[in-house]
Amino acid sequence: MFRPFAYEALPMRVIFEEGAVSHVAAEADRLGMKRALVLSTPEQVSQANTIAALLGSVSVGVFSRATMHTPNDVTEAALELVRSAAVDGVVSIGGGSTIGLGKAIALRTDLPQIVIPTTYAGSEMTPILGETRDGEKVTQRTLKVLPETTLYDVTLTLSLPVSLSATSGMNAIAHAVEGLYAEAGNPIISLMAEEAIAALASALPIIVKNPRDIEARSKAQYGAWLCGVVLGSVGMALHHKLCHVLGGSFGLPHAETHTVILPHAVAYNAAAAPEAMSRVARALGVSDAAGGLYDLANTLGAPITLAQLGMKESDLDRAADLATARPYPNPRPLERGAIRGLLDDAFHGTRPHTVSQRGVAA
Ligand code: NAD
Repeated sequence: MFRPFAYEALPMRVIFEEGAVSHVAAEADRLGMKRALVLSTPEQVSQANTIAALLGSVSVGVFSRATMHTPNDVTEAALELVRSAAVDGVVSIGGGSTIGLGKAIALRTDLPQIVIPTTYAGSEMTPILGETRDGEKVTQRTLKVLPETTLYDVTLTLSLPVSLSATSGMNAIAHAVEGLYAEAGNPIISLMAEEAIAALASALPIIVKNPRDIEARSKAQYGAWLCGVVLGSVGMALHHKLCHVLGGSFGLPHAETHTVILPHAVAYNAAAAPEAMSRVARALGVSDAAGGLYDLANTLGAPITLAQLGMKESDLDRAADLATARPYPNPRPLERGAIRGLLDDAFHGTRPHTVSQRGVAA
């Protein structure tokens, strides 16, 4: 029996192909770009130069100062260039940091965006933008920032270091997991979420052994795409809230924090979201979703404790307070004491107990 649902598809064009960057000039033309600015982080400037060369005379140059969490001063510097060079479109090559800068420009100018993702974070598929001003990160959801075109070119992910491949992949899986128990969840998004978890969970262990395995890289990129659609389509819950608190207030690294927290957030919600749990477990090929996610992170050699990420045990109380200060949708009600326990498990990297094993009512 279906429960009622609303489903809204996000308008975007995707080309998924090994060597897809070769289409960038044609795609720029399709969007009417005559003067495109290529965006990247300082570390990816050579990839950005390659894209600029492919764009030929349409490229007005590369702005390579993209930074994690989209600081406002970087956006302002890029906007100066957009104005002075009469830029009419942006091409972002990189992970969530670079894509965030492209979105911040689009928010203020309505310029079209082509995105060429090189991590598994999934920002290219979402109408979400988080920006930092005076040290505070503010997130908004608006179709103005949704990129028009995404080129998925697996060859660009081959250089993604093994550690970042593992944590970026777990970050993507977190979007799919929370999509399965989202308040506005629906059967279409759940199909994508389960498929995405299965694709990433089977590809990531192969990538860790051989980062240049093109099949596994393609499968991971496909999974990450679907995870991004899930993130862009339905609201997230406790897991993302905890990661936002730990990243925003305690400076913990984005993808690593998702990796450590996910099994524990899933254990917290397990009894309250049994159907989601069975789909996560089925996608992982295990019987217990939380334990399976913990084991996957371990297999990938990813961090499994908050202590490894630089969290102080003395800050766990404040983190629990911040994560429960305001209400938000979550399958299991927010209980400050149990969330403090979850953080304790994550701090020490204890293999998660499901809620029923702990005897805590959902
Ligand atoms: P990132 O973009 O910060 O990249 C991390 C580092 O890896 C950078 O130095 C980058 O240049 C480098 N890198 C990326 N791809 C590479 C490759 N293929 N080879 C070698 N080096 C490579 O990391 P991320 O995890 O993709 O993005 C994190 C940011 O994105 C955070 O600010 C997060 O909040 C945001 N984000 C936003 C959304 C959204 O929907 N708005 C979704 C996910 C993440």
